[in-house]
Amino acid sequence: MTEDELFMRDAVRLARHALDHGETPVACVFVSRALREVVAFGVNATSRDHCGTAHAELQAIRQWQERWGGSGGASGGTGGEATGTGVPGSFSDLCVYVTVEPCVMCASALRQIGVSKVYFGCANDRFGGNGTVLSLNSPQSRSLGATPPYAAVPGLFRREAIMLLRYFYVRENDKAPQARSKGNRDINTRDFPPLHWGRYIGREEFGREFGSRELHRYDDDLDLAGDGVADHGIDWTLIDSRHDRIVDALTERLDTLERSGRYHFGKKRKIAAESNIIT
Ligand SMILES: [Zn+2]
Repeated sequence: MTEDELFMRDAVRLARHALDHGETPVACVFVSRALREVVAFGVNATSRDHCGTAHAELQAIRQWQERWGGSGGASGGTGGEATGTGVPGSFSDLCVYVTVEPCVMCASALRQIGVSKVYFGCANDRFGGNGTVLSLNSPQSRSLGATPPYAAVPGLFRREAIMLLRYFYVRENDKAPQARSKGNRDINTRDFPPLHWGRYIGREEFGREFGSRELHRYDDDLDLAGDGVADHGIDWTLIDSRHDRIVDALTERLDTLERSGRYHFGKKRKIAAESNIIT
C-alpha cells in the first residue's frame, strides 16, 4: 500500500466516524509533504454545528491554524479565517486527502491558502470545485487571481467514499416522514459510475501518479480497483466497521508531532523539515 493510500484510509475512517455521528460522511487529513505526517484533520460537522459551511476542509484549516498558527507567528493572528490574508506560506507544504471532491467553496479556500495538492476519492456531482462543476484548482481558472493553482487527483478509495454516501442517504430516507418502501433500502454495492479521469488530470500526470501499466484505466474511465475483482475492489472492513478511536488516534499523532518540535510553521519549520530529510 502506498503512503497516499494510507493517508486516504485515515480520511475514510474519519468519514465513517462522521456517518456514525449523523453527519454526511466526508472527511479529510492534511499532510505535510516534507514530513509525511498528518498535521491536521477535518470531519464534516454541518449537522452538529447547524452550519452549512462546517465542511471537513474548513474544519481542518481551522484546526491547523489553532494548533500550529499560534497568535504571535507569521500568520499575523488573522483569527483562523480561510481568507488567505496573512496565512503563512507553509500551507504550500500541505497535501490534502479528502474522501469527496472539495465543493466550490472549499476548493476555492484551499487555493487561497495555497495548498499544493489534493487527492480526493469520489466526485462531488453537484458542487465539485476540482473539475466536476468548476475547476477552481486549475491554472485556467482566473477567478482566483494570482493565487497558485494546485493539482487535484481523484480515485483513491473512490468506491469506499461512494458507498459511505450511499449508506448515509439510505439512512436519511429511512428517517423521512414518508418512509420509502423496503425495496428502496437495498443499497447498490455493485454498480459505480465511470470515472472521467480526463476531466480532472492529464494522461501523463495519471501515469506519473499510478504507473504506466494502469493507463488503460485512464483511457476506459475505470476505477483504480474494482471491476472483475473480488468484492468489487472495495475494502469493506474499512467502511463497515466503526472507527470510534480514529479522532483520538489522530489527535495523539498531532500531539506527538507537536512535542517532537519537528513541525514549526514559517521559516523555523522549514529548516526543521529540511534537516529531518537530510539526516
Ligand atoms: Zn466544502
